Amino acid sequence: MLESTLGHGASGEVWRGRSHEGEEFAFKILHDSLSRDPETVRRFLQEGDLLTRITHPNVVRVHGLVAEEDTLAIVMDLVQGRDMRMALDEGGALPPGSACTLGAEVAQGLAAIHDAGVVHRDVKPENVLLDERTSPPSVRLVDFGIARIAEQTGSKATKMVGTPAYIAPEVADGKPATAASDLYALGIMLYELCCGVTPFADDSVYQTLQKHARHLPGRPDGIPDPLWELIASLLDKDPAKRPSSATAVAMRLSALAVDLAPAQA
Ligand code: ADP
Ligand code: MG
Repeated sequence: MLESTLGHGASGEVWRGRSHEGEEFAFKILHDSLSRDPETVRRFLQEGDLLTRITHPNVVRVHGLVAEEDTLAIVMDLVQGRDMRMALDEGGALPPGSACTLGAEVAQGLAAIHDAGVVHRDVKPENVLLDERTSPPSVRLVDFGIARIAEQTGSKATKMVGTPAYIAPEVADGKPATAASDLYALGIMLYELCCGVTPFADDSVYQTLQKHARHLPGRPDGIPDPLWELIASLLDKDPAKRPSSATAVAMRLSALAVDLAPAQA
């Protein structure tokens, strides 16, 4: 039973609802256009099988996929809290230590997704939910893997994969998204957590993509050297020169979170 909407985006709408037993879940209902193509439905169920196998504290738990009549839906845990976009809009940029703490959790979640053979493809604050029942809140990644299904249907409405402000130069150039392109998006997001804006967003999509391809990110004030070095390496134009894995980035960020934590009085 669906009760109220939680959000909507490129691929569908997310609803809060209950199972027959009364347990609360989040249901993501994909756009009709996706459910009309049998090949898409087949891929959805195949990809979904991978998603249900990922169990990690920083990844939203996917319980199952439903393909019924003209509806494709994903059943997942309901996260009680805001997404990172709302938190940034309300609270502004974070101190570097807190950005590292959150970033480390995002990187750990990404590592679990990558280990399962899935590329997220749309890492950005909207897709990082904050479970605010704990303090500090813990991160749960959502919206992973599904972009590939939408992309392969080839319909115009669903062709745009990723989000211009976060898209890696090689993906903007038409190459397939990889774990390294997720790390690039993580670099953009870390930059944004620290200073409130992304480095390359521009009025036009074309200009934004040009900047990803050619501009070096300007160094914002207040980012300590070791954190800046990490962000700059994540934003390397050459995917082969980025850190080797999400796990390596998570370890680096966890260490930085300790070093940069404000001294206790
Ligand atoms: P889209 O592909 O439409 O971007 P998402 O999976 O990112 O879909 O979900 C859209 C929004 O719905 C998210 O930004 C978030 O605010 C909310 N949402 C998604 N999944 C959940 C969940 N499991 N629990 C609570 N809110 C969710
Ligand atoms: Mg989303």
